[in-house]
Amino acid sequence: MLRKLGQLDVVAQVERLPGTRIAGEVERMSHAALIAELAERVCEDRHPVDGVYELTVTALEELARESDPRRASAYFLTAALELLGYAPQLSVCASCEKPLPAKPAAFSPSAGGFLCDRDDLGMPPTSLAAIKVLRLMAAGDLQTYRRLKIDDALMTEIEHVLTTQLEHHLDRRLKSLQFLHDMRARS
Ligand SMILES: [Zn+2]
Repeated sequence: MLRKLGQLDVVAQVERLPGTRIAGEVERMSHAALIAELAERVCEDRHPVDGVYELTVTALEELARESDPRRASAYFLTAALELLGYAPQLSVCASCEKPLPAKPAAFSPSAGGFLCDRDDLGMPPTSLAAIKVLRLMAAGDLQTYRRLKIDDALMTEIEHVLTTQLEHHLDRRLKSLQFLHDMRARS
């Protein structure tokens, strides 16, 4: 069903959801496009994955109610990575599997998660706050997530982890993600 949806169908579907904030908001619309494009890609690349449709509907509803579209999008990306079997390693080192200490850590999409000091290769670290939000989302705690204060810098760190992890596993880049990157680079 989802694989038949083109961009125009996606727009029409979004407008039927509760809340009218999506209309006229380019960024929110771009996140809606990302959710739809990823759902479409998943159905195209493999046999239908259980839960993709439900996740997509939930994500679009969350996007309609959430004042910051980036928050809804990050939550969706976390759940989508989990569904696809690409969830990043957040609690133990992705290389040696030792538990990560409570401090900033480098993220490596090729290793599939965060790395301990011995295994990171001097990559810039992600803040502990970002790692904690990622863990909260991975645990599926949407209620707590909704109440968190997440500023732009923190959200950028979270998005970086999720989108680099996702793109590492996709054979083609997502057009909507590229658009969001470009839009942010210009703002
Ligand atoms: Zn390690």
